[in-house]
Amino acid sequence: MNSCIDKRKIVIAVDGFSSCGKSTFAKTVAARLGYIFIDTGAMYRAVTLYAIEHGAIVNGMLDTDKLVDMLNDIHIAFRFNPERGASDIYVNGEWVEGKIRTITVSNFVSTVSSVPQVRAKLVAMQQEMGRGKGVVMDGRDIGTVVFPDAALTIFMVADPEVRARRRFDELVAKGESVTLSEIEENIRKRDIADQNRTVSPLRKADDAVVLDNSRMSLEDEMKWVESVLHEKRCL
Ligand code: C5P
Repeated sequence: MNSCIDKRKIVIAVDGFSSCGKSTFAKTVAARLGYIFIDTGAMYRAVTLYAIEHGAIVNGMLDTDKLVDMLNDIHIAFRFNPERGASDIYVNGEWVEGKIRTITVSNFVSTVSSVPQVRAKLVAMQQEMGRGKGVVMDGRDIGTVVFPDAALTIFMVADPEVRARRRFDELVAKGESVTLSEIEENIRKRDIADQNRTVSPLRKADDAVVLDNSRMSLEDEMKWVESVLHEKRCL
């Protein structure tokens, strides 16, 4: 049921299109509530990186059987990084946070995330991480599949050009050499792939509240979420 019974810790699910600012929003909400923030996109990206580095993606093609055979060898963990105010992701003990947001990983992640066995493994991990409540989890299927009973589900949207510009600025700031049109193309393709895959496609959960942040500052978003939480008697 999408409401708060009392003021106990809850699960907040944040879904939406690529580069809508879900992670920044979710991380800030978590910090303000004293909750844990879980970036599930980072998990799909980490599996994609592993597939690239271990020969399951060759010449632009994913060898699904090879990836499925590897899944038991992929151990994902999060460790809080106080400098980022969020958890960094590790694969088999290796810090991979710095390698998972490249355009190469972005170009393959939607293909990898459409493999049912990959989703089954990561969804089970996500459900385990949210068991104790007090989490803000962002992704594509959190309110529809991972936590359909989350007390609050938010579906984030933003204008495509705003999204592309944000992702472009982020990558350029990190020193990646990319063009705006490359980013626009990647976002467009991922939107199509994420909405049309057979398993857990991206869609708005029936009980989700829509947040269009195209013209909102982070502080505006915080005021918005605070009023939603008050309305639902979660604060
Ligand atoms: O959120 P982010 O853009 O980092 O996610 C990368 C990709 O991971 C998405 O484009 C999508 O294909 C996949 N993903 C998913 N389900 C989630 C989170 C991410 O399929 N819960």
